[in-house]
Amino acid sequence: MTFQDFHFNHKLQDGLNAMGYKNPTPIQEQAIPLILAKRDLIACAQTGTGKTAAYLLPILNNIIHSDHRHLNTLIIAPTRELVQQIDQQVEGFAYFTGVSSIPIYGGGDGAVWDQQKKALEAGVDLMIATPGRLIAQLASGVIDLKHVQHLVLDEADRMLDMGFHDDIIRIIKYLPPSRQTLLFSATMPQRIRTLANRILREPVEVTIAISRPADGIVQEAYLVNDDQKEKLITHLLKGSNFSSALIFASTKEKVKHLGRLLPKLGLPSKAIHSDLEQSEREEILREFKNKQLNLLIGTDVLSRGIDVEGIELVLNYDVPPDPEDYIHRIGRTARAASTGHAITFINQFDQRRFGQIESLIGCEISKANLPEGFQSSFVYNPYSKQRPDKPRNTHARNSNSNKRFFKKRS
Ligand code: AMP
Repeated sequence: MTFQDFHFNHKLQDGLNAMGYKNPTPIQEQAIPLILAKRDLIACAQTGTGKTAAYLLPILNNIIHSDHRHLNTLIIAPTRELVQQIDQQVEGFAYFTGVSSIPIYGGGDGAVWDQQKKALEAGVDLMIATPGRLIAQLASGVIDLKHVQHLVLDEADRMLDMGFHDDIIRIIKYLPPSRQTLLFSATMPQRIRTLANRILREPVEVTIAISRPADGIVQEAYLVNDDQKEKLITHLLKGSNFSSALIFASTKEKVKHLGRLLPKLGLPSKAIHSDLEQSEREEILREFKNKQLNLLIGTDVLSRGIDVEGIELVLNYDVPPDPEDYIHRIGRTARAASTGHAITFINQFDQRRFGQIESLIGCEISKANLPEGFQSSFVYNPYSKQRPDKPRNTHARNSNSNKRFFKKRS
């Protein structure tokens, strides 16, 4: 199948051609006809499946064909990075169409909002917003959602994890009931279904099987004690010839620490975390995208938000708290069917969680031998105990995915 088979408006097709999109991905093949047919949709699909284009293309096609132009579509997404990336995709697809969009997210100064306000007053077709910022701005009265025809909730599970449920419900009260609603979520816990029952009308459900890491990713892991991790990461990075690599750590403190340590050890890198100003974060991401910066360190929030071509190496400094975050983290490499390398450090307390990841992806990940000069002090045991002094799986999605894991195994 090719995108021509959807018979999109030729201006939209020109945008697709310019962006080099030829064949739709499975989620696009399934979702686009349903969205064009004006159905409400629940789609279980993760980042990396092409879900953004799956909803943007039919919506843009609809906007091009509508004769009365007003704020037609509202897309709500959990983080400003994701909002910006959706906005960039709109810009690409809509380049020849005259459709306009505006990103609305927090963290900017007053001048940003003044700019956004002017754009809104001039009229835009499509708004992409984080829930908190949108709620704050709805009170200003500049944003009129009365004519919105399409509502998209992107990464709905992450938004609920971040505590946005009530904000979403409040925003929806500003929308007309006769809209089309599309809900995209990487996971489908009960609370997503409850939300869907509340805000969608006779939705069709599309599930892209639980995503497995792309075939092009070579995955391996090192069994390594915490006190050897700094030495090992330096050894591996210095010995590898990457032009773009991402390091993930599960806490902001570790991210900051590595951001201070690695440059001192001769590995130019930057850490991105929530204590930075938004403009600083944007600058770092820009440098990373342009390959001026070759090594970037961040937490799982980055794994959801970042869409950069050509990342060759993802290094997990620790095992991510949630098995699905592993897929998100390593999915930053080998994008669009290229190849990549993913390395994970497992300490003795993280073995069980790594076993959960292997169970989720349905295969055992190869454990590499430690280089010379390193001492391995344990043999891999995915049933070993977790660190006793630290409660694990404290956030809701973690406990859900673990429940699923244990169910599957029993
Ligand atoms: P997403 O899952 O929406 O985050 O998309 C993942 C990446 O795949 C993005 O970089 C998209 O630009 C790219 N992509 C999505 N759909 C296609 C397609 N049909 N052909 C080529 N690249 C695509």
